[in-house]
Amino acid sequence: MKVLKFGGTSVGSPQRIQDVATLVCDGERKIVVLSAMAKTTNALLEISDYLHKGNPEGAAELINSLERTYFNHVEHLYATPDMRRTTHDAIRAHFDYIRSFTKDVFTPHEERVIVAQGELLSTMMFLNLLKERGIKASMIPALDFMRIDQDGEPDALRIHQNLEKCLRALPESDIYVTQGFICRNAYGEVDNLKRGGSDYSASLIGAAINADEIQIWTDIDGMHNNDPRFVEHTSPVRNLHFDEAAELAYFGAKILHPTCIQPAKFANIPVRLLNTMQPTAPGTLISNNTDSLRIKAVAAKDGITAIKIKSSRMLLAHGFLRKVFEIFESYRTSIDMICTSEVGVSLSIDDTTHLKPIVDDLKKYGTVTVDSDMCIICVVGDMEWTEAGFEARALDAMRDIPTRMISFGGSNYNISFLIRAEDKCRALQSLSDHLF
Ligand code: ASP
Ligand code: MG
Repeated sequence: MKVLKFGGTSVGSPQRIQDVATLVCDGERKIVVLSAMAKTTNALLEISDYLHKGNPEGAAELINSLERTYFNHVEHLYATPDMRRTTHDAIRAHFDYIRSFTKDVFTPHEERVIVAQGELLSTMMFLNLLKERGIKASMIPALDFMRIDQDGEPDALRIHQNLEKCLRALPESDIYVTQGFICRNAYGEVDNLKRGGSDYSASLIGAAINADEIQIWTDIDGMHNNDPRFVEHTSPVRNLHFDEAAELAYFGAKILHPTCIQPAKFANIPVRLLNTMQPTAPGTLISNNTDSLRIKAVAAKDGITAIKIKSSRMLLAHGFLRKVFEIFESYRTSIDMICTSEVGVSLSIDDTTHLKPIVDDLKKYGTVTVDSDMCIICVVGDMEWTEAGFEARALDAMRDIPTRMISFGGSNYNISFLIRAEDKCRALQSLSDHLF
């Protein structure tokens, strides 16, 4: 069985929802994972924000306006008055439930319940459409099987067991519909897998049922070899290794959520990125196979801060790096890039919440310099180091760009450059010109 996930824009209007319904009805059994309709999660978060700030009138206004949008969708989505009425009533029930939270003190848990309504609405509307079209389809509620543990990590065993049970109870269905993003936590409360988490849901579901393939449907044809927002003439990459895709997702390719790769890679289930606007285009296939010895893509990650710790005490000493890293660990701040020399270490972080105390602590061990407004440019491919030339080509493309750090050899799949944010577009364009 395959798992197909459709993101917010793919179900962003009645027309798009109808297109997805047509696309999934090809006679094959499958699980369809949906995000909330585009803009809904943001709207629900804004409603929560009003409640959090103690302004129920502000929240009520937004609730009414979002509800009207949904009522309006119903008019365009269904062919029969019966299904329009049924869905209208169901939407009303969801929004009445959201309204019930405007009456009392607001808690973070209630925010998660409100945010969950986005995926509950989109899947309910989609299932009703399939039913209206006479398709044998059922809901497998994510809240019945998707679980995270006390650390907020997916509980793979529970997910597997719960999902088996859900599927066994509905043997007659051709299409199973479920919500991305939402789950229950270790206390059984409604929770979620963080923003953009529907990709993660699809990957976890795929791994849990040992799917033949996980498909992530968006509105661009696969992962591109450079960022189309900044560079002209980018093209889709046909094949990527799981590790290459993970580097690209983490370092900026917006099409796939970085956490999504790991469960699929672990279960060795291929992930295919496809385009709802062009369903027959080949997209990108992410698997354990790769076109070896090739540079495939470039991505950029913004909002990076570089920290340099220079110390003569590092010279011939051992344990210096451990002390430095322990400081970052104690502030739960993860490090992206590292470069060392005999008298210093430079590293980069993207979360500056604890920058001040980190720098204060680092001063115990050396002279500390901070550079903000930096950007990581990441060149990804299968670059076996025994084959000479990959780093030379990348460096050649970067010859005119002032470079703060270079990292190569952390894996076979990545060369990273730390540069000033203002040089990003120039660097991306030059890499595209030289490498592809
Ligand atoms: N609806 C959620 C969000 O907007 C999850 C997702 O779309 O992946 O973040
Ligand atoms: Mg998304």
